[in-house]
Amino acid sequence: MSAAKVHSGGPIATGGVNELLPELEKFYTDLHAHPELSMEETRTARLAADRLRVAGYDVTAGIGKTGVVGLLRNGHGPTVMLRADMDALPVKEATGLPYASTVTATDSVGKVVPVAHACGHDMHVAWLAGASALLVSHI
Ligand SMILES: [Zn+2]
Repeated sequence: MSAAKVHSGGPIATGGVNELLPELEKFYTDLHAHPELSMEETRTARLAADRLRVAGYDVTAGIGKTGVVGLLRNGHGPTVMLRADMDALPVKEATGLPYASTVTATDSVGKVVPVAHACGHDMHVAWLAGASALLVSHI
């Protein structure tokens, strides 16, 4: 048994993750290239909600303006909750990545600012999309 398949004494469900990775990487780079400031994440929220719906979740969007909740029911028992932030920061990206953000936005005081996912929330949304898809495939 490899160390990668063991966590806290039990197996981790990894079935299917490798098949999801190419598409999740595309999703991640798209999110990275299209960051949105806090409370303005309408595109990101729409994409996240769409993925949850397609995966079979009951989706409620627009919570607190841009929040999204997806519910997947499979009977009585423990509840698993996953959470991801979606907002990006008012900073200029200088990574040189082919999918680097060139986005600017108007902040809450009317100033035009560069926007980038220097926070990693693009990865939050991407892993949540993957985890939510895997949960469906394992119930
Ligand atoms: Zn962020």
